[in-house]
Amino acid sequence: MLEIKNVTKSYKLESFTQKALDKLSINFRKNEFASILGPSGSGKTTLLNIIGGLDHYDSGDLIINEISTKKYNDSDWDSYRNYRVGFVFQSYNLIPHQSVLSNVELALTLSGTSKQERRRKAKSALEKVGLKKHINKKPSQLSGGQMQRVAIARALVNDPEILLADEPTGALDSETSKQVMDILKEVSRDKLVIMVTHNPELAQEYSNRIVKLKDGKIIDDSNPYDGKGDTSLESSKMNKTSMKLRTALELSLNNLLTKKGRTILTAFAGSIGIIGIALILSISNGVKNYINKIEEDTLTSYPISIEKSTVDMSSITQNESSKIDEKEKNKRDKDKIYSINIMNKVLNIFSNQVQNNNLKALKEYIESTDNGIKKNATSIQYDYDLDLNIYSADTSKGILRVNPSSVLETIGAQDLVSNQNSMTSLPGMSSSFSMSSRLNMWTELLDNDKILKNKYKVLSGKMPEKYNEVVLIVSDDKQISDYALYSLGLIDQSNLKGAMKKIKSGEEIKEEDTKSFSYDDILGLKYKLILNCDYYEKNGSVWEDKSDNEEYMKDKINNAEEIKVVGIVSQRGSGLSNSESGIGYLTSLKDYVIDKINESEIVKEQKSNDKVNIFTNLEFPEEGEKFDYTSLSDEQKMYLESLSAEQMAKLMETYASNSDASYENNLSKLGSVEKDNPSTINIYPKDFDAKENIGNAIKKYNKIQTKEGNEDNVIVYSDIVGALISSVGDIVDVVSYVLIAFVTISLVVSSIMIAIITYISVLERTKEIGILRSIGASKKDITHVFNAETMIEGFSSGILGIFITILISVPVNIIVNNSFGVENICSLPFLAAILLVVISILLTVIAGLIPSKMAARKDPVEALRSE
Ligand code: ADP
Ligand code: MG
Repeated sequence: MLEIKNVTKSYKLESFTQKALDKLSINFRKNEFASILGPSGSGKTTLLNIIGGLDHYDSGDLIINEISTKKYNDSDWDSYRNYRVGFVFQSYNLIPHQSVLSNVELALTLSGTSKQERRRKAKSALEKVGLKKHINKKPSQLSGGQMQRVAIARALVNDPEILLADEPTGALDSETSKQVMDILKEVSRDKLVIMVTHNPELAQEYSNRIVKLKDGKIIDDSNPYDGKGDTSLESSKMNKTSMKLRTALELSLNNLLTKKGRTILTAFAGSIGIIGIALILSISNGVKNYINKIEEDTLTSYPISIEKSTVDMSSITQNESSKIDEKEKNKRDKDKIYSINIMNKVLNIFSNQVQNNNLKALKEYIESTDNGIKKNATSIQYDYDLDLNIYSADTSKGILRVNPSSVLETIGAQDLVSNQNSMTSLPGMSSSFSMSSRLNMWTELLDNDKILKNKYKVLSGKMPEKYNEVVLIVSDDKQISDYALYSLGLIDQSNLKGAMKKIKSGEEIKEEDTKSFSYDDILGLKYKLILNCDYYEKNGSVWEDKSDNEEYMKDKINNAEEIKVVGIVSQRGSGLSNSESGIGYLTSLKDYVIDKINESEIVKEQKSNDKVNIFTNLEFPEEGEKFDYTSLSDEQKMYLESLSAEQMAKLMETYASNSDASYENNLSKLGSVEKDNPSTINIYPKDFDAKENIGNAIKKYNKIQTKEGNEDNVIVYSDIVGALISSVGDIVDVVSYVLIAFVTISLVVSSIMIAIITYISVLERTKEIGILRSIGASKKDITHVFNAETMIEGFSSGILGIFITILISVPVNIIVNNSFGVENICSLPFLAAILLVVISILLTVIAGLIPSKMAARKDPVEALRSE
């Protein structure tokens, strides 16, 4: 059944060629127990390896069941080893990190037998060699004889036709040797057993054929066989062997688990790169978030503000004029100082007329078309020439106007207010810088929940949800100026009056104690909303201003719409933003007021006739018109003459007040504004890039207007703050690039490390590679085993790295938050964490590719010989 014809095998060494087998020919029977004897170096092992397909002959032929193996390819040899032959070695060659049962199962695993079948076959093979009790032990827990029996069980589990044993008793004492020989003898009943031995007595006693070898040649054969008369075997089919990924993973995982300490260390070493990257990502993410927040903070405080009337100051705020180009520089004398000319520009600007912006057209444009303004803005606020008139709901101690603040009036500083007001009307001066905004303790909240959540932290209560709900805004350290408290009626303004009196009489006043308020003091504060038109009452044919009439005002306030404080919020650490404290209300409150005013009787009446002043029932004066007694009719003159002095005085007063009245002024006095015609448009950009986009969108708008011949609609605005802070974005970019460079270096370092670790593992597991190959594992399978190992290493490195990063970021966040007040400076995005684990697996697998290819290419014979 097994014919060896003229097989020659030589090993090429550096200096000469060593002939191990020299034209050796021999035939074996289907079942016999042949012993091969011979001095060391005579070629016994080489012969066995060639029969077993571990090694390949140089010339000659190996014929199995009358089929030549000359045309066998690698995978044919793999299946041959797996199905046809079983190996037993002197040094057992069991895989130390696998249990006895797994060691035996391995050959079946390779041939793709189902798990149940594997178990059954392996158990029965172990039972046959008398090791049923020890199946769950590790090889190291067995004696030499037991280990050799495991090796025999493994060799037999796939029911091969040939069992090859290379000095199986070489390391055993004579007692256990006999046990092993008994088993081999038993096996040889229905299989071909070829055994190499140094022990002629054992050979004599157990085998039925003794072949003597010397210098690669047969010198004696006790029972030669000519190859004839042997019943030709049914050529049993040989499936292709192939290891499943799961088997590879199990094998590697078991191996890694036996070396727990080292595996953890390796995973840790591999994870250092990942930790580095993860930390950098966390921090750059945290810093980016922080900068975005500062950007947002800054931009929510300094929006692009477009006002109805303005002067284009952009040309003097830009510092372009101070830059000179190279050409000009070269022309200049090194020993002279040169002027930068800006004054003429400034003069030009002031000599130009104040620009009127058509905000009605701009609002329509912003709202109607997709032009990149809305997209780039977190919020767009439309302001109108309209103050909210808010009063304290409690009128028992008199009337307190809460907004606009009455504090300055109380201390007799109205003049200051009016001066400041005229200051703010200076064109180009954004209202956010002005004093008048300080008078308005009530500010409109941005119409963007996300921004509000970022900007404010709710200390108690909730954010307003309805138009009649408001919140008290305090600073991030829970403070609020007493100016605001006086204004809001939380501190009695009479205190101020007392202090004012003392100062006037030359007394010194002491610094006041800090006052504190509980959340409950503030939550549930109630205010009343008075509309501008509420101040007037119809008296006969004219509307009379009753704002000075205390009874009238009390009655109005008591019946007015109630506004409730539903929450207290603090401003989160605000980077560059100016702090605003006071009351925040929703846009819907403003809308409500505008609608209510426009629905009121008095406004409707004024609007129904734009010629007659409803406050005097007289016609509005034409431009430059003066009252002229002579133009009156006789009837009118008669009426005038009939009046008493008092009546006359009143009439004259009315006329006087009418003389500078106009339809527009009256509407503005009543607070009647058109929603589609704002006085200011505040655009809050998402970030600096968005700010630039919005600027470009407005430029584009201007271009369109010019093209269509609507030069009047061209918008002019100045972005004073923008120029100051736009460079922050550049710094962030530079820092990001530096961080990315670091990340790249860490990646390279960690992959090199993984490659080295895998390489060491390959060296370490050389023996295992040999064993696997000897029981039929293909080169590919070996690659799989090592790829599986690197995959597991990569996965655990990744997970460990992420875990450690999260551990590190906890104290870092606490420290940074405590000392700088910056929250979550170190926060790894979830997606990045997943990606890093994947990258870690990919990198380790790639780094392990070369070592695992090396492992696959290892000569199985050499591999087995290694220790
Ligand atoms: P035995 O098993 O009978 O002691 P071997 O078959 O192992 O002998 O070796 C036969 C000859 O081939 C010896 O001279 C040995 O040195 C040589 N040989 C075996 N394997 C190799 C190898 N991998 N490289 C070089 N020489 C080898
Ligand atoms: Mg040998």
